[in-house]
Amino acid sequence: MRKNILRLLALAASAVMLLTGCSAPNGEKAPEETPRQQAAVTAAPEGQAQKTSGVGFYFDTVVTVTLYGADEELLPEIWTLCEKYENLLSKTVIGSDVYRINHAKGEPVTVDPETWNLLKRAKEINEKTGGAFCVTIAPLSAQWDFTHGTNMMPTDEERLAALPLVDDSKLILGENNTVTLPQGMQIDLGGIAKGYIADQGAALAAGRIHGGTLNFGGNVYALGYKPDGTAFNMGLQDPEKSSGSALAVLTKTDISMVTSGIYERCFFVEDVRYHHILDPKTGLPADSDLSSVTILSPSSMDADAYATACVVLGSEKSLELLNGLGMDAVMITRSGELLFTDGFEEEYSFRML
Ligand code: ADP
Ligand code: MG
Repeated sequence: MRKNILRLLALAASAVMLLTGCSAPNGEKAPEETPRQQAAVTAAPEGQAQKTSGVGFYFDTVVTVTLYGADEELLPEIWTLCEKYENLLSKTVIGSDVYRINHAKGEPVTVDPETWNLLKRAKEINEKTGGAFCVTIAPLSAQWDFTHGTNMMPTDEERLAALPLVDDSKLILGENNTVTLPQGMQIDLGGIAKGYIADQGAALAAGRIHGGTLNFGGNVYALGYKPDGTAFNMGLQDPEKSSGSALAVLTKTDISMVTSGIYERCFFVEDVRYHHILDPKTGLPADSDLSSVTILSPSSMDADAYATACVVLGSEKSLELLNGLGMDAVMITRSGELLFTDGFEEEYSFRML
């Protein structure tokens, strides 16, 4: 794990950021003795913004931060922010809002206004995606293990029994920040929370740095400029290659880039790939024509949720949906074809490697 930390620190330090892959530390637990964060400050040449890099473990994933010209307090404030949202939104942290919702046995729960608003947005996206994005996926996602090597999966009977419990319309957001979920149902914010936290991190850093990148387990936010005045390069993971192999590079600033892919958190049984993006209608890993969906948006939260949904929806429905919403995306099909939303190539500097 320590090696991974250092490798990621090196990666974060490079100009090209790559998204994590199937065997990446996403989903791994940091061993108890590992510090939650590591940081490094690199002396800058005269007149250039000083670089601060950090790697942390939060929400079961690796967070990498690179800041140019940051004040001393910013990085520790980012870790505090990570801790705050982990304690609010993680389903495994006892007493978090999500934990309390999931264990309320049908009773209303009063949550933080931020949690309430996040769930409100999640429900809107559930409607806009025809149910493909679904935070009440938890009874299904709990039946699978994509991260710890056990290859656990449900029997058909177990899976079909969980399907009626997956329905965001039954997640009731009441007055005064109350949330009610029928007994037996649970929520899983794995498809949206990191995007939301990336947005909060970016808002915290904005105006306090010359430039920087925040990578919350694959939800990348690029802010400002590198010391040489150029925008950050963001690598588009090649679904066919190991984690860290970019297929193309995108250059843009003050934007978030989020990828959902079937090559992340997956396992194979008899040559069949089982991956972590589930189709709420079947309870099985999404079986569309898409290998990955990368969305660029000033809202990392929206990009996160829509990217997950699009993998379920497939290319035709996704292009129609995203073009209708005016969202920018590049998708890679299982046969390796690249598909772009309208106007994408004019808007982004996109370079194949
Ligand atoms: P990652 O967490 O690797 O960045 P995604 O953003 O695509 O990947 O989210 C996948 C995670 O979201 C899963 O691990 C699971 O917790 C949850 N999830 C799986 N399928 C769905 C779905 N159809 N809608 C909402 N969340 C989902
Ligand atoms: Mg997502």
